[in-house]
Amino acid sequence: MKFLVTVTGNIPWDAPGITDAHNHVWIDTISGIEPTGPVLNRFDLIARELLDYASTGGSALVDCQPGECGRNAVMLTRLSKATTVTIISATGFHRPVYYPPDHWLWMSPENQISDYFIQELTLGERETLNTESPVKAGFIKIACENTVENTYLPALHAAAHAARETDRAIEIHTEKGESAIEILDLFLSLGVDPRQVILCHMDKRPDAGLHRELIQAGAALEYDTFFRTKYAPETNLWPLIREMIASGLENHVCLATDLAESNYWQSFGGAPGLSAFPTQIKQRLEKMGVPDETIQKLLGKNICRILATEIRN
Ligand SMILES: [Zn+2]
Repeated sequence: MKFLVTVTGNIPWDAPGITDAHNHVWIDTISGIEPTGPVLNRFDLIARELLDYASTGGSALVDCQPGECGRNAVMLTRLSKATTVTIISATGFHRPVYYPPDHWLWMSPENQISDYFIQELTLGERETLNTESPVKAGFIKIACENTVENTYLPALHAAAHAARETDRAIEIHTEKGESAIEILDLFLSLGVDPRQVILCHMDKRPDAGLHRELIQAGAALEYDTFFRTKYAPETNLWPLIREMIASGLENHVCLATDLAESNYWQSFGGAPGLSAFPTQIKQRLEKMGVPDETIQKLLGKNICRILATEIRN
């Protein structure tokens, strides 16, 4: 039996229902960065939004904020307990622009960074290590720049090392799908099983041929531009989903909303809200005539299967 490592403990991998494969539940302010990135730090409003997500059919969320750049696993745990929404938290690294200047990570060798990732996956995330119940990271989230060369190589190698060592998945931010082949090739060359790799934001590069190639190489793809009009989801995302299903590749596509900015949250006065995932997106798939079993895969079963791990530590 494989398990999902959640902020409230391990659960059978297939326990959650609808699971947003890439979202952000809490983001602390980070001092010293300019301009500031998104911030989500109002417990009452976030809890209200999560309750709404749960009451409209949402079951779990994959939180893609790695440590040291806004993640707060203490708050994630409190929110999960208060709302019953399952949350899976990440170790890993974000883009350097989201860290205080001169952050240690960008000056450290591979082994120091991979020790940090492995510690967070097996013992607990740093901000919880001195609490009563340390919270383990459930997966590795990393961010690539537009090319592999422009990304801090020791951190990429460290992520591969930690993934191999702990049998955990890596969600990889791509800059609008750029260099996806090169990124996947790098991880394969470092001994990572392609079934551990999820390439994020790929619908920003809606090239169905490329997507088929990546999936045939074993990776999964994450799509999330449903509510980002500048990426023309009607022209790009929805036809892409249709095409991947028609090609029989529905086991390798994970849908998400990535609503890191509070203006997308209803409880902050924005739209469409986290509940759009279990309502609007699900209804649209139903209307397209997508079979129930496929909808379940796209809306949660795939990402949970990929993040699942044999517990060996
Ligand atoms: Zn994100």
